[in-house]
Amino acid sequence: MNDIRIHKHQVAVVGGGAAGLVVAFGAASAGIDVALIEAGRLGGECTWTGCVPSKTLIDAARRAYEARNSGHVGVTTSDVAVDFARLMRHIHDTSAHVAAEERSERAREAGITVYQSMARFVDPTTLALDGGERIRAKRFVLATGSRPHVPPPLRSVRHLTNETIWGLAELPEHLAVVGGGAMGTELAQAFRRLGSRVTIITDVDRLLPTAHPDASEVIGERLRKEGIALHSSTKVVSAAEGEHGIRLAVEDGTVITASHVLVTTGRTASLEPMNPAAASIDVDEEGAPMLDDRLRTSQKHIYVCGDAAGAGLAHIASAQGAAVLTNIVSPRALAVDTGIVRWAIFTDPEIAQVGMTKHEAMAKGMNIRTTRIPIDRVDRASVSGASDGFVEAVHTRSGKMLGVTIVGLHAAEWANQWIRPVSKASRLSELAFTETIYPTMGSSNAVIAFAWVENLLDKGMLGRLARLAGRARMWLARTP
Ligand SMILES: Cc1cc2nc3c(=O)[nH]c(=O)nc-3n(C[C@H](O)[C@H](O)[C@H](O)COP(=O)(O)OP(=O)(O)OC[C@H]3O[C@@H](n4cnc5c(N)ncnc54)[C@H](O)[C@@H]3O)c2cc1C
Repeated sequence: MNDIRIHKHQVAVVGGGAAGLVVAFGAASAGIDVALIEAGRLGGECTWTGCVPSKTLIDAARRAYEARNSGHVGVTTSDVAVDFARLMRHIHDTSAHVAAEERSERAREAGITVYQSMARFVDPTTLALDGGERIRAKRFVLATGSRPHVPPPLRSVRHLTNETIWGLAELPEHLAVVGGGAMGTELAQAFRRLGSRVTIITDVDRLLPTAHPDASEVIGERLRKEGIALHSSTKVVSAAEGEHGIRLAVEDGTVITASHVLVTTGRTASLEPMNPAAASIDVDEEGAPMLDDRLRTSQKHIYVCGDAAGAGLAHIASAQGAAVLTNIVSPRALAVDTGIVRWAIFTDPEIAQVGMTKHEAMAKGMNIRTTRIPIDRVDRASVSGASDGFVEAVHTRSGKMLGVTIVGLHAAEWANQWIRPVSKASRLSELAFTETIYPTMGSSNAVIAFAWVENLLDKGMLGRLARLAGRARMWLARTP
């Protein structure tokens, strides 16, 4: 035991992804002696196997799709080819570029002591590293992320997950995507656009079950038009490797033979390898640590944040990391509040949600109103021929904003403008007089605000005046 090297730090952060990096860099800049232990590469899932590679793939797929489908505006190309190996290199280069700010050297320059190793508890104040070294700290932050959940029938056959798909050497001939959530739907559309045959199998009755049902319908319809086969409300009951590929027997009686299977059926927090029992951390019946409103475990000096605490999105993971950091450095401890709901799904058209959908508000028994416009009332959408989608604002009778669903061109970018007004429950009328640039998707905030006034005043003289004012407002925005 005397031979074991023991390193002592004030704070030890395990996991160098979106959550852990915020804690480690923030603690170092506050002058805290912090250790960061990472088994793989700094940057974590978002940079290497999640947000960055998937959005790079989606961007390439959009280019291929637009090159093939611009005849109606008079632009045609003879032969659109996808060099998949080159695209994969581009994806890896993009991840490396994004990771440049997260490199170990950058962390060391910032004053963080980086250990490249797996870590696991041996007692409540000590971690063991791979080489046998030990780390002792006063506080621990477990930001160990999550790993893909693969349902039993698929475990016995060759399958891809978000961790392995970026190593593909060739474009799949026929990709079966199991799961119809954000990851499955985004990647299904991208691979179809790159040239794969794609089949989605989901056990839910619609794609994107956490989204507004009308948003799911727009995307479902679009994917069908683009040639994706969709099997919903069913599941894979057995899988086997066959001569012509992987044979998936589906509960609805179909047999699908695919060259590749991508599993996107949810994720499991990766805390078990940390050996929480050795730290006497209380866990629930599923093995997940019980956390209080400050993301502390039953051992009050051990925090959990990011996907390991159920964040599920990079910006929520970072926000949790920032909240944990604040509680570590500040004498006034606060409950973790990561702000209002805000997320996007990067399909085409994009879906963005800020605050509540009307269904969520109604399920809470709230007395709400909605104002909705089809996306083609927005000039920027018409200019780009992007007519699929809608904007639906959820608000109180007096126009206080509770949420917005946007389905359309650049919805994710545009939704950022709604975060502050929805957080503050500002009135829709404020949007009507916010200066914007024409023609942009954002300039349509005024369109929805005036649509609300029109609805309010109905079809009488005042309603006509509101419509006129709305039009005048758009014209004013156009005038240089
Ligand atoms: C395909 C896909 C697309 C996505 N797209 C988006 C998107 O567009 N927008 C968005 O907001 N989110 C997106 N996400 C989600 C996002 O990637 C995650 O929410 C985010 O990366 C979670 O960050 P984290 O720090 O909690 O965990 P991670 O980034 O997973 O980091 C955990 C780190 O801990 C390390 N680790 C684990 N256990 C140990 C141990 N015992 N010892 C040492 N190190 C350990 C791991 O190696 C890893 O680097 C996507 C996810 C996927 C899969």
